[in-house]
Amino acid sequence: MNCSKCGVKKAVAKKPFTDQYMCLDCYMSDIYKRIKRNLSRSKQLEYRGKIAFLIPQPYLAYGLFALRIILAIEKKYESEIHIIMESCDDSKFVKDGSEKNVRIYALQAPEELRYLLKDENSIAWWRRYRAIAASSVLKLGFRSMVLPLCAEAASKMEISSILSSQLDGGGEEELYLLRPDGFSFVNALYGISCREVTLFSYMMFPEAYEEQLRAESRIGKSLVDEYANNILMSAIKWRSGEVLHSIDKSIAWLYGSQNVPKCKYCGGFSLKKNVCSYCEVFEDEKINVLLSQAELRECKQL
Ligand SMILES: [Zn+2]
Ligand SMILES: [Zn+2]
Repeated sequence: MNCSKCGVKKAVAKKPFTDQYMCLDCYMSDIYKRIKRNLSRSKQLEYRGKIAFLIPQPYLAYGLFALRIILAIEKKYESEIHIIMESCDDSKFVKDGSEKNVRIYALQAPEELRYLLKDENSIAWWRRYRAIAASSVLKLGFRSMVLPLCAEAASKMEISSILSSQLDGGGEEELYLLRPDGFSFVNALYGISCREVTLFSYMMFPEAYEEQLRAESRIGKSLVDEYANNILMSAIKWRSGEVLHSIDKSIAWLYGSQNVPKCKYCGGFSLKKNVCSYCEVFEDEKINVLLSQAELRECKQL
C-alpha cells in the first residue's frame, strides 16, 4: 500500500485514530510539524534561546527521539539545548551530542530525596521527579523545562489518579503546566500518541528503548496503574481516540476548568491550596532542604 500523503512511497504505518497510511518520510515530517507547533505555542522558539530538556530514564528512548527533532528545529534558531539525564552514563545514547550547542547534565539528588521516588505509583513518581528536576534547572537560570511525555502516558496517570480517589492527578495532558511562581513545564510531545513515539524511538534507538522498558518496570506499579492501563488498552483496541479526549474534557469540567490551584512544586492540579497530595512530602522541613540541594552536574562531552 502506498502512502496516503505523498502517494509514491510505500506506507510503513497507520496513523492512530485516522485512516491515513504513512511512509517513513511523510510520518517524520508530520511529527516534526506537531513538535514544532508545540514548541512555538509554548514560546520555546526564540532566536539564540536556551532550552532545558529533561530525559528521565523511563522515557529515555522517547526523549532521545524528541531530542533529535528538537535539535533539527532549534538549529535554525541557533538555540542552546541543555539536556538533563538521570546519569552521565545515559549520555552515551545522545549521538547528536557532538554539536556545539548541546550540553548534557546528570541530575544529582540526595539519597533521601530519591527515596521518595521508590515504590510509588507512576503519577507520584512523575510529579515528584519533575519537581526535583525543576529545582535543579532553576539554579541554571531556567524558567521552564521541556518534557517528553506522549499522550497516553499522561492520560494513564490521570486515570490512575482518579481510580485511587486522588482527584489531584488530573490535568496532566496539557501543552504546558504553570507553577504559581511562573516556572513552566512544557510537553514537547503534547497530543502525539505514544504508539507513534514508540514506533520511531524503537526504530531509531533500540538499545535505549530496552533501557527505557527496564527503567519503567522499576517504578512501583500499583493496582490502579494496572487498571488505568487496561482502560487505555481497550480504548486503543477499539480505536477510540475519543476516550482520551473525553477524559481530559471530563476532568476540566469536574474542576471548573482554569481556576484549579496549581502545585508550587510540580505545577500539577492541586485541590489543597498550592501543594498537591503527591508533593506534600516536600513540605517537610528537612525534605525541603534536600530538595533545594538537587543540582545538575555537567557530563564530559563525548
Ligand atoms: Zn509519503
Ligand atoms: Zn505537586
